[in-house]
Amino acid sequence: MTTLFEKIINGDLPCEKVFENDRIIAFKDIFPKAPVHILIVTKKVIPNLQSMKEEDLPLIGEIVKVAQQLAQEFGLEEEGYRLLTNNGNHAGQVIHHLHFHLLGGGPLGRMVG
Ligand code: 5GP
Repeated sequence: MTTLFEKIINGDLPCEKVFENDRIIAFKDIFPKAPVHILIVTKKVIPNLQSMKEEDLPLIGEIVKVAQQLAQEFGLEEEGYRLLTNNGNHAGQVIHHLHFHLLGGGPLGRMVG
């Protein structure tokens, strides 16, 4: 089944894109949980962190680099930000296509509410 993020990657659904290369796309979350809430998404369809294979692991480094770059662009460097991925049901993962949330722009509260 095509994930919602595949539709965004393919251009079948609109998004507010803030970064793209051959392997990664990043766009603003449609229901932001912080003043800055960006989703960093792998173009390769990988359901979640747990299902990543050895050959996928370089993507993690690239996601971190993109997060650092976006943190700079969106003015999050000084006060800080959170980068997280939800893996599976107990974490509340809704879209089963690997993505990291970059959150910042104000106090984020405790990590687990
Ligand atoms: P998850 O809970 O799977 O970690 O996060 C999925 C995220 O995708 C949620 O924060 C949700 O607000 C966001 N989202 C759901 N549908 C859309 C959409 O159509 N466009 C964008 N930009 N974000 C979406």
